[in-house]
Amino acid sequence: MQDMELQALAEQISEQYFGRPFKHRAIFNAHLRTTGGRYMLQTHHIEINPKYFQYYGTTEVIAILKHELCHYHLHLLGKGYRHRDRDFKELLAKVGGQMHCKPLPQDEKTKRTIHFYQCVECGLVYKRKRRMDPRKYACGNCSGKIQKVEEILD
Ligand SMILES: [Zn+2]
Ligand SMILES: [Zn+2]
Repeated sequence: MQDMELQALAEQISEQYFGRPFKHRAIFNAHLRTTGGRYMLQTHHIEINPKYFQYYGTTEVIAILKHELCHYHLHLLGKGYRHRDRDFKELLAKVGGQMHCKPLPQDEKTKRTIHFYQCVECGLVYKRKRRMDPRKYACGNCSGKIQKVEEILD
């Protein structure tokens, strides 16, 4: 599924289940990790995790879109758009949405953590699959000090 098809699907579900137009953008965002989708309060855009389409197909994308469209429409209508709000729970039930999306299968790839270290002197970045104590190492390029910068999953 491409962004254009996702956009068309979001517009269709919005009309069909909410009786209101979806006038913003729905796009795939490969950087989403644990969540199936998110609604951006500032831009009103909806982002969908493409892994959910890869693993579960269109059915799960529709379920996620229903959830995000509840946030979207309630927010634009000035109603309770947060998970804890009664408005949200009622609308979600009405359109047959779900509060939580399925967990993604925990294969080796999604589970693996990569540790990032960076030289404070020259900025060279080191990627390691295992955690290491940066105090015990020096930069291979300039012998500068190394520090941990970020931890991400891929
Ligand atoms: Zn939500
Ligand atoms: Zn260095």
